[in-house]
Amino acid sequence: MALHWQILGALLAAFLVGSVFGTEAAGIPLGSIYAFVGGLFLDALKMLIVPLITASIITGVASMGSAGGVGMMAGRTVIYYVFSTTMAVTTALLVMNLYQPGISGGQPLSQTVELPPIGEEVSGRLEGQELSGFFNILREMVPANIVEAGANAQMLGLIFFSVLFGIALTRVTSPGRQVVKDFWAGVQDVMIQITHWVMRVAPIGVFALVAGVIAESGLSVLLPMLDFFLAVVLGLAIHALVVLPLVLWLVARRSPILFMRAIWPALLVAFSTSSSAGTLPVTLNALTQRAGVSRETASFVLPLGATINMDGTALYECAAVLFIAQAYGVDLSLSMQVLIVVLALVTSIGVAAVPSASLVAIALILGVLGLPLEAMGLLLVVDRVLDMVRTSVNVYSDATGAVVVARLRGEDRVLTDTRFEEGEEGATSAERG
Ligand code: ASP
Repeated sequence: MALHWQILGALLAAFLVGSVFGTEAAGIPLGSIYAFVGGLFLDALKMLIVPLITASIITGVASMGSAGGVGMMAGRTVIYYVFSTTMAVTTALLVMNLYQPGISGGQPLSQTVELPPIGEEVSGRLEGQELSGFFNILREMVPANIVEAGANAQMLGLIFFSVLFGIALTRVTSPGRQVVKDFWAGVQDVMIQITHWVMRVAPIGVFALVAGVIAESGLSVLLPMLDFFLAVVLGLAIHALVVLPLVLWLVARRSPILFMRAIWPALLVAFSTSSSAGTLPVTLNALTQRAGVSRETASFVLPLGATINMDGTALYECAAVLFIAQAYGVDLSLSMQVLIVVLALVTSIGVAAVPSASLVAIALILGVLGLPLEAMGLLLVVDRVLDMVRTSVNVYSDATGAVVVARLRGEDRVLTDTRFEEGEEGATSAERG
């Protein structure tokens, strides 16, 4: 059975087993077992990130040959990111105003539903989460110590350094140049091989991660917040199934269905891990080997996307803040709503690509608007499951960006060639030359 079918089967089994047996059955501490196995899988994915990203970017940029080419690609990538995230936040604004999930029977939800007691839980969940401000993001781009940047998974620093390294590699004329180039190309190949191995155990990891979430929170917790849950899922679905496919079709001139077929292993892993950074090796793999995007493009656009492009997160932030305002009967003027849109857009860039990271951005926006921070207790009920969905949308948008940029660079073989099957290296090796 193909790997992606195995992962899907594991996901469905996890929903079933998690809801039937819970966190403990017949004295067996299932919850701890899920946490142990799931944690191992997630760490195995994260283990790949630093060497894979560094080697891919250096090799990609070095083979592009000129700083101009890199600059052009960076420009297109950023334009795509700003555009797609703006569309996502606008969708949230429309859906929340039309659906109004914070109002039930004409009354703000806080008057009809007892709010869960919170306080400590909110601060506990926010602890350790950090949001990078705009200037901090710029500062992070130039790390004082590249080893430290790698150790702390500071992706922007790593990306920036690797791009510089790649460009410099095209400039130097010393005899060691080819050795260094070959070395990084070799590291990249080795990391891709290890990614394949980690992916082989993905069905087990996915099962443990998802069964853990379902066993712990259960799907029934969603009920009191069902309207909010559905409104966010509706918004995310419109963005992922209507807006982004239109972009793919109109700008990249490629079939959204073929695209979906190529990247769905990455979407499944994003859904299970709730971490777009952790999913990065899988996304890279899917784009280069199943969609035929060149390594140069994928290894530049995807790491940057996982770090700063978060459509699902921005949409969720905007929806969550509007929901809390509705639930507390706060009337937001149009200018306030525009402010929320802008804040969601800007803060989503600084949100880390790890589980539940957007909560800290939501807390910040609530603070700016003077809305009660305690209201976040409402969100915590549904956050875990919504995190899975929005992370998939984050990854989906990064992948769309990679195809769009690849097509703008004139890569004709993207999503046309059925050779790009699992395990088979596509156009990239040949193109790398
Ligand atoms: N979990 C999300 C991600 O990794 C971030 C968030 O919205 O909390 O993409």
